[in-house]
Amino acid sequence: MSEIKTVEHTKDGSVYGQILQMGHEQLVFCHDEPTGLKALIAIHNTILGPALGGTRLWHYSDESAAITDVLRLSRGMTFKAAISGLNIGGGKAVIIGKPKMKTEAFLRRFGRFIHSLGGRYITAEDVNFTTADIEYIAMETPYVTGKPEIKGGGGDPSPITAFGTYLGMKAAVGFAYGKDTLEGKRILIQGAGQVGSHLVKHLIKEGAIVFLTDIFEEKLLSAAKTTGAQIIQPSDVYDFPMDIYAPCALGATLNDQTIPRLTCDIVAGAANNQLEEEGRHGHLLKDRGILYAPDFLINAGGLINVYTEYLGNYKREIAMRQTESIYDMTTAVLSEANEKNLPTQEVAMEIANKRINQIASIKLAY
Ligand code: NAD
Repeated sequence: MSEIKTVEHTKDGSVYGQILQMGHEQLVFCHDEPTGLKALIAIHNTILGPALGGTRLWHYSDESAAITDVLRLSRGMTFKAAISGLNIGGGKAVIIGKPKMKTEAFLRRFGRFIHSLGGRYITAEDVNFTTADIEYIAMETPYVTGKPEIKGGGGDPSPITAFGTYLGMKAAVGFAYGKDTLEGKRILIQGAGQVGSHLVKHLIKEGAIVFLTDIFEEKLLSAAKTTGAQIIQPSDVYDFPMDIYAPCALGATLNDQTIPRLTCDIVAGAANNQLEEEGRHGHLLKDRGILYAPDFLINAGGLINVYTEYLGNYKREIAMRQTESIYDMTTAVLSEANEKNLPTQEVAMEIANKRINQIASIKLAY
């Protein structure tokens, strides 16, 4: 297997150019005229097992934005599964559209496309997807996880994602300050969605001073009211005086424009693909003295939960126990990065890569 390296923006914007650079196995374009479904399923790497990753529904500005997103997200899932010790590969799906398009027929048609891949790709929830949507997909294919608990599934993965992110954040705080308490820390959560609104509760409970922002005012007001977090405007995020920045909205918020403005000591959040360019921006954070808890490591709780469901006989305690290991793994990655004087993202990717290569080589034996 060729080495999976850090990638920067591809100069060749073609679809194959991106696939070659990021090392994907397969990209599937799905279209159904009667329901208006336009979906992309990307399978990045299946050495460890079938590709598992959620479906995101988003109003992408254009097709190329959707392609880039599904390629970046599916690749991140490969690293997430590998570093978390799971026997699954990296995949992800995106649907181009708006939540109001999600009729029963639309979702079941999408389920049939997933089924046509014969189990190479297993879906779950991501942005704008709920357990109710998953139930429709499950009518057409068994290759789906994140079903409601009442139906024997693991339920919404967001609370476990938030729990793992909280533990990863605590490990980063312990590493940076010598004590892992969040009490009195000024923490800004960007995105009061499913994960952000659960994360805020853990932080408030521990005595952190939490600031919350979202582009949807209604969501923001309701999350702030129920938790006691303070509200800030989305445009104020990067100049805001804070100890910890927790990105919990969309990706690529760590970039050339934002990193020089950040005043925080730590970045630790749940959003996928926080670094716009994982190599260069990982270095930029390090050079600014900002400790970065790699996203694919600390937001793996949800994946662990759907993986536990996929294995069958789901028990939440098993998923929770495995999610707890995020704390130790985060400490290990941060320590190794410090010893080697490397960006934390690079070290986390090395660990994931090493496991994939080692398992690939054992499969060569009969
Ligand atoms: P969500 O859609 O419920 O929440 C995202 C929130 O971010 C929304 O409320 C949205 O309005 C807000 N938002 C979007 N752009 C924003 C901006 N520029 N500024 C402020 N707020 C903005 O999604 P979620 O399930 O909470 O996931 C959040 C992030 O975590 C995503 O990147 C997702 O891929 C990642 N993630 C989620 C899970 C999970 O279990 N849900 C697991 C791993 C990673």
